[in-house]
Amino acid sequence: MVRGETTDVAFYTNSVHISADAPVNLVERIRLQSMYHSLIESGAIIHAFVGEERPDAQSIAALITDVFHRTQAAQVTVSPEFTYCNSCQFIDRGIKSTCGKCGSDNVVGETRVVGYFSKIQNWNKSKRFGELPARQRGNYAVTAGDDAVVAEPAVPHPAAT
Ligand SMILES: [Zn+2]
Repeated sequence: MVRGETTDVAFYTNSVHISADAPVNLVERIRLQSMYHSLIESGAIIHAFVGEERPDAQSIAALITDVFHRTQAAQVTVSPEFTYCNSCQFIDRGIKSTCGKCGSDNVVGETRVVGYFSKIQNWNKSKRFGELPARQRGNYAVTAGDDAVVAEPAVPHPAAT
């Protein structure tokens, strides 16, 4: 699907991902996107972009338990973002315009794209100025179970039967 507010920064969503800024909670995002995972023979992955947040272990455990029991997701990542300082080599959580240690503006953001972390400055214009801001408007909060559960039990994955 082609996304982006202008044709200048239009981008395709990866795989069968719904828009990064779609107004759905994380478990619903995973449930919707994973409906097609059994059809993707080359592998599929869903990211929970958490920015500079550091979800606690219980929240991550609750998320993974929900995902395992209620979706058909093949892979899920909990993906933070970082800022690397070229001046003092400090690595900070979140994407920032200056270093949190020395104040330098000689910094680069790093986040995951597809399955690996990469420097945002190397991304093409559409991903950098189209997809990334949409991610930051998205609801990727990793919260423990109660309010996140929206789906009935998923249809068993064909490979699991
Ligand atoms: Zn620094």
